[in-house]
Parts: sequence; structure tokens; C-alpha cells
Amino acid sequence: MIDDWGVREHRDIYAEVLPTWGFPPPGSTIVPAHAKTNASAQVDRLLKASEAAEALAMMHSFAFGVRLNEGSSDWTMSCLPQYSDAPNQRRATTITIGRNEVFHVWMYLDTGRIGDWGMLVGERDDEDNFGELSTIIELEKTRHGLLAKGSGFDSFAEALGHQLIRKCAENVIQNRRKAGSKRQGEWHNPRLARLLELDTAGKSEEAEIIESDWDVPISYAMGSIASRRHQAAFRRNLLKNTVPVACAVCGIDVKEILEAAHLIPDSQGGRASADNAILLCANHHKSMDQKMFTWTAGAPQWKPGIKPF
Ligand SMILES: [Zn+2]
Repeated sequence: MIDDWGVREHRDIYAEVLPTWGFPPPGSTIVPAHAKTNASAQVDRLLKASEAAEALAMMHSFAFGVRLNEGSSDWTMSCLPQYSDAPNQRRATTITIGRNEVFHVWMYLDTGRIGDWGMLVGERDDEDNFGELSTIIELEKTRHGLLAKGSGFDSFAEALGHQLIRKCAENVIQNRRKAGSKRQGEWHNPRLARLLELDTAGKSEEAEIIESDWDVPISYAMGSIASRRHQAAFRRNLLKNTVPVACAVCGIDVKEILEAAHLIPDSQGGRASADNAILLCANHHKSMDQKMFTWTAGAPQWKPGIKPF
């Protein structure tokens, strides 16, 4: 289990993937232009912001951390840049369940950087539970409940590092879900949800009108996010559980070049599980993928004609 719901890892993955979608690389000072008022354009606008990768990672970690992906007909995810309480900030994204806004990330329009974030962590009178965390989060009693707030990505990652905050956020979601009350907002962004790999298929007509030039790069990119996230977790588990931490073929123990290899590839139904995993250096991983050897009875079985190395 990742301690901070993987938020830093997700940031790195999105930072890598955003330019492949044709959006500015992270840290660019490009200021997102005002978007047309349709949902897709609002998402594009978010993706151009200099801290887009951070914003996506925050939403991603939150949504998966509170298990929004399990049974997904009762929430909406929105880009709502037209709503703002502060002159130069816009509510880049919100996630709403029932009538409760449970999560938001605000961004500065002039810099594309993240401003405040907030997530519901309980009922209005629950603030005593969080005494010890007051240096990390601010608490605000809102009509939706008790909101934990902070500013910027790092404070969010730090907040998610605390079991209590995560647990409370998750409880809020599960309780609000039980309470029912659906609200399908006009600004629901299925495209945003798709980027985050949350299944909203069939929830909105907008899902049908994603521009054709987006189909290829996005489905490609989404696939690469899914596999990278999966691969990263797979590798992390293997590194933690393999003794010694070294290539099973040559024994090199330089962690940076060790990779998690599937014995049965996932394309053939192989699972990302301990009994289907082997730690290999980059060279031997590649060689196995090229079928230069098979892993048989705990040792490499080199193909005839290949000189073992
Ligand atoms: Zn090796």
C-alpha cells in the first residue's frame, strides 16, 4: 500500500505523459487561455496549466484513494473555472457526490499553478479529531461538512501521508454514498474522468463526442498510464520482497537498473503477482522478452545458438 495514495508517483507519471498528449511540459510558464464553455475545452485548459501534472495527480490519488472507481454512478467530476471566490484563482476541478462537494483543487489563472486544495474529512463538529494535524491542514466548517484545506501540491502530499486524514476522507465518501441523492451536473467531465481512468462510460453524451484527433493519443496515453502505474507497483513489491535485490541471471545489484519481469507476460494473462515475477537487470529483461532464454526451474534456459551472458 502506498502511503500517500501514490500522489508523487502519479505526478511523475502525468508529467511524463502530458507532453506526449501535445500539452506543454510541466513547469512551462504557459498560461492557459480562457476556454470556450464546453466541458472538453475546460479540460484542455486545465491540461495546459504549468502544474497540470500535479493537479491530475491530486485528483487521481484522491479518487482512487477514496475508491470512487468502485461503483461510479453517484459522483460527478467537474472543471468549473468560471466559479471563484478569489479574484485570481479558479476552481480548476471539483468532485461532487450527491449534493456534497467533496474535493477541489484551485489553480491560479495567471501562473497555472495550484492554489488551494480541499477535501471533506467529516461532519462540521468533527474538528477535535484533527488537533495534532493542525500544522499540516487548515480546517473549515462548510455547509457540506468539515473541510481539510491546504495550499499547493506538497502540502497535499504531506496530508495524504497521514492515515487519519485518508481514513476520514474515505469515510466521508462512503457515508455520503449511502445517503444517496444523485446529482448529475451539467459540467460533468467524462473526458477528465477518462484521463484519470475512472470509468464513466455511458454517463454522459459528451463521452460520445471526443474529437477524433484525441482518440489515438488519449487511448494510447491512458494505456501507458495504466501500465506504468501497474508496472511501478509491481516493481516496488518485487524489490521489497526479493532477497537478494539483484538480477536473477547475472546478480548485478544496482537497484536503478533492476526491473520487474513477468514470467508469463501480461499479454498472455500472466498476473502481476509474486509467483509470476522475477527481478532482472535491464539487459536480461530485454533478453528474456526477446526469447533468448526462458526461466525454467529457477534458472535461465538459454536458447540453442545463444551464448549465455
Ligand atoms: Zn542481469
